[in-house]
Amino acid sequence: MSHRIVTVVGARPQFIKAAALSRALAGDAAIEELLVHTGQHFDDNMSQVFFRELMMPAPHFNLDIHGGPHGQMTGRMLEAMEQVLLDTRPALVVVYGDTNSTLAGALAAAKLHIPVAHVEAGLRSFNRRMPEEVNRVLIDHLSALLFCPTFEAVRHLRNEGISAGVHHTGDIMYDATLHARSAALHQSDILARLALASGGYVLCTLHRSENTDSEARLAALLGHVREVAGALPVVLPLHPRTRQVLAAGNIDTTGLRLLEPVGYFDMHALLGGAAHVLTDSGGVQKEAYFHRVPCVTLRDDTEWTETLTAGWNRLWTEPAYVTPRVDIAEYGDGGAAIKMAALLKAFLDD
Ligand code: UDP
Repeated sequence: MSHRIVTVVGARPQFIKAAALSRALAGDAAIEELLVHTGQHFDDNMSQVFFRELMMPAPHFNLDIHGGPHGQMTGRMLEAMEQVLLDTRPALVVVYGDTNSTLAGALAAAKLHIPVAHVEAGLRSFNRRMPEEVNRVLIDHLSALLFCPTFEAVRHLRNEGISAGVHHTGDIMYDATLHARSAALHQSDILARLALASGGYVLCTLHRSENTDSEARLAALLGHVREVAGALPVVLPLHPRTRQVLAAGNIDTTGLRLLEPVGYFDMHALLGGAAHVLTDSGGVQKEAYFHRVPCVTLRDDTEWTETLTAGWNRLWTEPAYVTPRVDIAEYGDGGAAIKMAALLKAFLDD
């Protein structure tokens, strides 16, 4: 019997994760996957570049919804997603992570009694002022299948009374990293283009609204980045939101090499050669660990707490410390997408 799945993506990290799962699903002729792009990220270097590099098919639906306050954006996506689901009538909807696109996809499906599979379920920063945290909690409570990247995530769900449909699969970003890291070896020349020596620079990314909403906060974080970098140059591929804030404000960017956002293979080449990574990104914190590069997280909390415990990551609010750096087994072995594909198939066949 053939099953139709609708996959909802909209933001940069979701293209990356969806590419890994789509690859695993593609081998199964009994599954038809339709891709919906909400349009949340739409610039070539925030969206299409990932489709090209990761050889993803063009989305079947592009909702072209971006900008505006959270409620408005999510509301418009909810309305459009409902129509897509009414038109396509899938057996299951797959959503990724914690963005407004994820919430709109999950909520539209749940209201139509279509089961939802949540990739990256159970993460908690316990900071409800972050829009992503609000989204995570709601999406997990709407989902029938919950794919957890860590055992800690499984525990968080259990503490909220969710145990049915919960699976520890490992982290799909690790699968994506293994793929990109080897592709970067022969498909990226960014270190040569930027005249950077391996081990001779610091890589930084900053884009979360909690850091970019206030110029004072952004300036303080960039001050910390310079302090950690010392004499090393700092390379900073800029998210469009951060570029806007820097342009509008009077923030000192001396000593920072500001770039446009880079493609995924260039990003892995930059990660692999960095002496340190400083970031407020969820994905980049872990990718730093996957490359075994020490990371400073430019937030006051993180949902990837095991990277802190293992000594590969520290919050910028913590003093610099030296801890034994241990390996983290629970992110899996790079086979998370294969496990998820098998679980989806079993759920649909049931
Ligand atoms: N990334 C990229 N180019 C960049 C910055 C980030 O390819 O210029 C990748 C990065 O390697 C990671 C993902 O985008 O896989 C993270 O996305 P982002 O930081 O936007 O979101 P978050 O992980 O915080 O949800």
